Amino acid sequence: MIPITEVVKGIFKIGPLDTKNNGATPWTAPFLVVGDERAAILEPGETGQAAELLRAIGGSEEGHLNMDLNRIAYLIPTHIHLHHIAGANRLLEKCPNAKVVVHQRGAPHLMEPTRLNESTLQVWGAESGCPQIDPIPEDRIIAAAGGEVLDLGGRELEIIETIGHAPHHQCIFERRTKTLFTGDAAGAFFAGPGKERTRPDILPPLFDVDKAVDSLHRLRALKAERILVFGYNGASYSPDKTLQWSEEDVRAIEDIVLNGMKQKLSSREIGQQINEYYRSQGLVRQEAAYGGRTETMAASGPPFGMVAYLKRKYPDLEMPQ
Ligand SMILES: [Zn+2]
Repeated sequence: MIPITEVVKGIFKIGPLDTKNNGATPWTAPFLVVGDERAAILEPGETGQAAELLRAIGGSEEGHLNMDLNRIAYLIPTHIHLHHIAGANRLLEKCPNAKVVVHQRGAPHLMEPTRLNESTLQVWGAESGCPQIDPIPEDRIIAAAGGEVLDLGGRELEIIETIGHAPHHQCIFERRTKTLFTGDAAGAFFAGPGKERTRPDILPPLFDVDKAVDSLHRLRALKAERILVFGYNGASYSPDKTLQWSEEDVRAIEDIVLNGMKQKLSSREIGQQINEYYRSQGLVRQEAAYGGRTETMAASGPPFGMVAYLKRKYPDLEMPQ
């Protein structure tokens, strides 16, 4: 039985979906937004999740949504880190009217994904069940710049450029219910007390603190009523608080890493300080899907994206060893 939750009228969380050993993020859950005429899949997910996702939406068994897949007009990843989008090829096959709405900087990498696949392999490693993607034809891609409004019939999705986590990140705001889909812009999963607090995702090599914070400010201005996050199955009903915490955490870790680099601390020492910070804030990742194991992501060193960002900003600093 595929878990399907109607979070608010016409917005469904589908999953968490298994990756069938063909991926690395079996805790993630895509979203389906249904308008009077058209529908959109937000965060299409990994290749191994596509069959289950399609069955949940189109299947007629009890508990499935029994929807005509011709109504799917858009697949909207928040960004092209592959666990968010690798399943798009399979979904496009079965949803003939769907187009992928992706940030304009991400679009060329979906049409010609060699570099995207290579860099994903490099970061994730082959043994992790690293997702890979096939080329997506140009006529099935809509390159977005932010500000686009997609009409589903009776409800609209607004695309908001939110770079920082990646230079091609966008968020989606459903205007009727004021639901905000933040992708990785405000943290990749809920971990904190009350589950309204997210752990910042500052690993990607092109992470940028100032741009990320700027994006968080833009999101706060929307005055959303809820935030839904693709990873870890969570929701926040206090978006302003969540987004403010997110900024505080990013700034706190920036300070820790910057001071560590100035004092020439080792990677391990900086990582330990970050772990202490996460622990002091209750931000320990609960790996329920992995048998209850808990871990903190910075265990062996500082998050690469933050170090790389600070090195770009202060070229005289040395990389921690
Ligand atoms: Zn990401």
